[in-house]
Amino acid sequence: MSKLLFEEYQPLAAIATTPTAAKLLLPLTQAIGAILWVPESLGGGQDAHPTTGDAHPTTGDAHPTTGDAHPTRKVYSGSLKEHLSNIWQENQGLIFCLATGAVVRLIAPLLEDKSRDPAVVVVDEAGKFVISLCSGHQGGADKLANAVALQLSATPIVTGASAALGLPGIDILGVPFGWHKGEGDWNKVAGVIARGESVQVFQEVGSTLWQLHLPEGHPFDFEGTEEQRSGGAGERGSGGISPKARIWISLTQRRFSPESDLPKVQWHPRVLWVGIGCERGTSKELIETAIEQVFRANHLALGAIAGIATIDLKADELGLRELYFDRNWPLRIFPAQVLRSFTVPNPSAVVEAEVGTPSVAEAAALCAAGSETLLVAKQVFRLEGQAGACTVAVAQAEQEYTGRTGKLLLVGTGPGQLNQMTPAAQTAVAQADAVIGYSLYIDLISPLLRPGQIVEALPITQEVQRAQRAIELANWGLSVAVVSSGDCGIYAMAGLVLEELQAQGWDGKTPGVQVFPGITALQAAASRVGAPLMHDFCAISLSDLLTPWEVIEKRLQAAAMADFVTALYNPRSRTRTEQIAIAQSIFLQYRDPNTPVALVKDAYRHSEQITITTLDKMLESNIDMLTTVIVGNSNTRTHAEWIITPRGYKVGEVDRH
Ligand code: SAH
Repeated sequence: MSKLLFEEYQPLAAIATTPTAAKLLLPLTQAIGAILWVPESLGGGQDAHPTTGDAHPTTGDAHPTTGDAHPTRKVYSGSLKEHLSNIWQENQGLIFCLATGAVVRLIAPLLEDKSRDPAVVVVDEAGKFVISLCSGHQGGADKLANAVALQLSATPIVTGASAALGLPGIDILGVPFGWHKGEGDWNKVAGVIARGESVQVFQEVGSTLWQLHLPEGHPFDFEGTEEQRSGGAGERGSGGISPKARIWISLTQRRFSPESDLPKVQWHPRVLWVGIGCERGTSKELIETAIEQVFRANHLALGAIAGIATIDLKADELGLRELYFDRNWPLRIFPAQVLRSFTVPNPSAVVEAEVGTPSVAEAAALCAAGSETLLVAKQVFRLEGQAGACTVAVAQAEQEYTGRTGKLLLVGTGPGQLNQMTPAAQTAVAQADAVIGYSLYIDLISPLLRPGQIVEALPITQEVQRAQRAIELANWGLSVAVVSSGDCGIYAMAGLVLEELQAQGWDGKTPGVQVFPGITALQAAASRVGAPLMHDFCAISLSDLLTPWEVIEKRLQAAAMADFVTALYNPRSRTRTEQIAIAQSIFLQYRDPNTPVALVKDAYRHSEQITITTLDKMLESNIDMLTTVIVGNSNTRTHAEWIITPRGYKVGEVDRH
């Protein structure tokens, strides 16, 4: 199930009109939590399940404990054209398995605007190509096409200009951080970027993470002068190159003159917390008007509002509730004893006598923003002929509010080559806002990375820091892929991340966590030499960095005694050279010196080396930190260049099931 990955496109529908198309899309829709619509002519058949809304009975794909079943396949009656007009609005994404021409004709009358239309993706009947047809950026069709292509092992076809340039789309730049799009000529600025011309960026607030991973030769110039910043005459960028467009990332509301031949756009990171105090019965209109007036007077962008804050006593105030509900603003409430601890410019004895704190609006704004100074001090508003009054104050948070629930995707990348990584794991990496891992593994998966993705490669020794950083970004609202080689749950990051989450009092749900298994080193190594793991086996890491050596030695003894085939991870480093010799001597106490041993270094990587040797001679060959050592059991044998561990112990008793 890859549903967590496809959450952002839900509700998601797929459409198939032929049996081949339905066969192709059914497993996909089951995996990603989409509904597959088929015409009545395909309604019958053994896998149709049109009315019950249950998961497909034969796949067993629904999560057994969470009741995750979803109606996979539904039948529409009448024409597809009519049906589409019914489901167009309600879906975030549509996946067609139909000729592109037919899809273009079908959706043409329904298209409105790229900021509102659903993502439209087309898959060919052979399942070879996945086309991002429409709403590539804001609708997410480019990302969706990539994700679907990975699920189907198909080639994604993305024709947007920024994708080819390796740049994040300018109209989706702030999406991971929850920024709001402000005014501007978005198409013109996108055109300038597509032509590779210089674009000046003034970023005053919000995360600058997006700036850190731009490709070389990107068109952005971050060195604008103060004069240009304040709207002065100079239209030259740093180094004397005239910018051809400008991007503002700020909390200010700028009005751009339509005559200016320098196209401009503005993004608003949500950093402003609006503190509100109000009398009982103050209307939504009054509060809204008050906020709008304060923002206009101070040139602040409404789009930069993170949310509103007040005292807990006002949480049920009707006008306030209507307002934050309508505007989709979060409400943060604080008790009087918290608010009274803030030093504010305009305390009021009257307010204190009434609610137990001398400040509501100012203190609540500061408290929500985690700031000590106000951007706008308290102002009082009344409206003629209306009951009630309200106070408004504004404070600025250091970090923007994303309004998103983050997730942690704990991904195993397999031993090396991309084709040894599961499609689900590939999708997780391609979809994530941020990818964190040891630099070598990030290099191995670099073809999966998307323009605009935040990539943080940290040295191998800083695993705990990597886990903490991933959790920090996920708590902030990003979807974060933490990558480990092999399987992420075997001597790798998954455990560290979960341990750290537990230490932080995680509720098990937020941020969401999904683990994507990978082929671990022992499987990879085994596959290169035959079938050494055929019978009971175990893995032991010889690294005593995190495990006391006595424990490791005890396990080596036990494994040797119990005749387990044994895979040794982390067998030897530059400084740790003794452990492998001790391990060998322990096995020699219980096993024949001729027991086959495989030394597989860098399995499935360019530098792969394979040595088949025996227990007594194993130390004569090179063993290092990139090697997995597999020691056979008492029955393991070699045949030509192959290692075989028999399926059964007694001759003639091979279990054929
Ligand atoms: N999570 C990883 C293991 C990390 S511990 C996994 O599941 O594979 C690191 C050890 O794994 C190395 O010291 C080596 O013993 C083994 N290893 C990792 N990748 C390998 C590869 N491609 N070939 C052989 N051994 C490998």
